[in-house]
Amino acid sequence: MPADSMEDIVNLCKRRGFIFPSAEIYGGFRSTYDYGPLGVLMLRNVKEAWWRSMVQLRDDVVGLDAAILSPPAIWEASGHLQNFTDPLVDCRSCNERFRLDKLDDPNVCPNCGAKESFTEARQFNLMFKTYAGPVEGAGAEVYLRPETAQGMFVNFANILQTSRKKPPFGIAQVGKSFRNEITPGNFVFRTREFEQMEMEFFVPPAESAEWYDYWRNERKAWYLDLGIPPDALRLRDHDADELSHYSSATSDVEFMFPWGWDELEGIANRGDYDLTQHAKFSGEKLEYFDQASGERYVPHCIEPAAGATRTMMAFLLSAFDEDEVNGEKRSVLRLHPRLAPYKVAVLPLSKKDTLTPVAREVLSLVQPRWMCDYDETQAIGRRYRRQDEIGTPLCVTVDFDTLEDRAVTIRDRDSLEQVRVPIDSLVDELATRLAL
Ligand code: ATP
Repeated sequence: MPADSMEDIVNLCKRRGFIFPSAEIYGGFRSTYDYGPLGVLMLRNVKEAWWRSMVQLRDDVVGLDAAILSPPAIWEASGHLQNFTDPLVDCRSCNERFRLDKLDDPNVCPNCGAKESFTEARQFNLMFKTYAGPVEGAGAEVYLRPETAQGMFVNFANILQTSRKKPPFGIAQVGKSFRNEITPGNFVFRTREFEQMEMEFFVPPAESAEWYDYWRNERKAWYLDLGIPPDALRLRDHDADELSHYSSATSDVEFMFPWGWDELEGIANRGDYDLTQHAKFSGEKLEYFDQASGERYVPHCIEPAAGATRTMMAFLLSAFDEDEVNGEKRSVLRLHPRLAPYKVAVLPLSKKDTLTPVAREVLSLVQPRWMCDYDETQAIGRRYRRQDEIGTPLCVTVDFDTLEDRAVTIRDRDSLEQVRVPIDSLVDELATRLAL
């Protein structure tokens, strides 16, 4: 069940070390966040799960890690310098700023309630501009990329030449993007610095509708496989008037956030817009020559573009649950094992020196395979609850019998089942249960 309040998740993230407000000791820094010891593990797992499905398990997609700093030429060709804008309005009454297209009622200020108080909308470019080198000014201007996608388009020829791929094939990238959002908010849903997971899939023009459909379905299935409940996920096709100028079709994968349906990912049929623009502006040929048919063409591109940080939040909301165990309320994150920060926690029943060597031995068996936590302080019940709250699927308890029978207890986060297994078969047993 998705948590019905953001507060549960925001508190949990702070209390357990998933996500902290950035620069907190200086009073925080406007909608930026730092990922703590558990958050960094989970975010890596989200990105890794995406990479596994988009690159590792396919033979038609290759990876890329392109630069974040980029020259204006790229953004001129892509259209971002011209068009990557949001309509900004100010309330004359309270001076708050809003994105016009995100207001429920464009005539009423959501902050102070004033009517007809907004200024004319101004187009505000979302790209962060900075300067490369010691001299500020024209010629030294660079931009922080507002999306990872352009890295794939500008490297199209390099990758075609070096990877031995031919359409249909894709280029995938995961990394930071930056947008000077007018109204960041809703925790990590909309931030100015965030991570994206994007893939550009280049296809023969005649196949683009078919591949667009394919990727819509693939991408929806990815979220479901990793534990988003079916009734909290939908595909929404854009209406004709919502489409970007280059797109012939776009669908959003949407999640039921506490404030309603909102976007996790966009899947767009971008046609040949990007390669054609970069060919025009750079003077390079960005096309494919099919030796078999003797045909030369500019591939069309299908783009599934997701946000890693936003998606992590959706996984957290979906996984959050409260139940009762032995008459006590329990908070539990029912995360898919692939996403859980720790897969296994090794817990010696007591901190006594007699148990430490065998508990350390168990840890050393499991640690090379999976990310593990090791915790030997406090009562065992409290330690189980802590692991439940951070989503650890399996706990391994080492007790005094272990010294005699060389067996340990595996406890399951969701079923609460406890089974005794010999240390010798522990890794196999954990592997079966985690099914990763
Ligand atoms: P929106 O309409 O919400 O501003 P968008 O349609 O401009 O988003 P895209 O350019 O399609 O977003 O980016 C792809 C994905 O990147 C989004 O679906 C989202 O998951 C993520 N994303 C975009 N902007 C942000 C942001 N400011 N903070 C966090 N994630 C973001």
